Amino acid sequence: MYKIELIQGDITKAEVDAIVNAANEKLIGGGGVDGAIRRAGGDEVIKECDEIRKKQGGCPTGTAVITTGGNLPAKYVIHTVGPVWQGGNKDEDKLLASCYKESLKLAVENDINSIAFPSISTGVYGYPTDLAAATAIQTIRNWTAYYSQKIPENIQFILFDITTYKCYENALTTFG
Ligand code: ADP
Repeated sequence: MYKIELIQGDITKAEVDAIVNAANEKLIGGGGVDGAIRRAGGDEVIKECDEIRKKQGGCPTGTAVITTGGNLPAKYVIHTVGPVWQGGNKDEDKLLASCYKESLKLAVENDINSIAFPSISTGVYGYPTDLAAATAIQTIRNWTAYYSQKIPENIQFILFDITTYKCYENALTTFG
């Protein structure tokens, strides 16, 4: 049985098999968590992102790709692209849910046993954190109910600030 764990901190320090990056569609370095992961992961991570962009043009919103973790403690980085919040009527919830599902699918395919997510879309992309937290927790609960095979045993959320942490804590209490 897997467990969901909430941690306040820096995802680049996470000692897990894979960390998830809130990337952008071009897989070109951004700010926020993406910038931090690229800096800490180094050239190997950037090179593999460049190769994926050359091969398939990038990573559309709601999908995910996987690279090495480079210099990170994590072996892999799963790059997923969350939706930009546009008021809630542009399928933002479905696209955000898809980020979590596609990331977990890649985790299963790559025998990943521990995975850490940041709060996807709630920084520069402007998704209200309470809504994003509810979607994140509900999606993981629903997804794991369907896919009993090889779910990562340890699913972490690494939240940078206390306000974000509290939102995920509320969501876990409500939907967990
Ligand atoms: P998005 O573009 O998907 O909104 P951001 O990187 O702007 O992504 O923000 C997503 C979340 O990641 C925000 O809550 C932000 O505070 C957080 N964040 C930024 N740096 C880190 C880090 N090193 N570890 C964990 N979370 C981080």
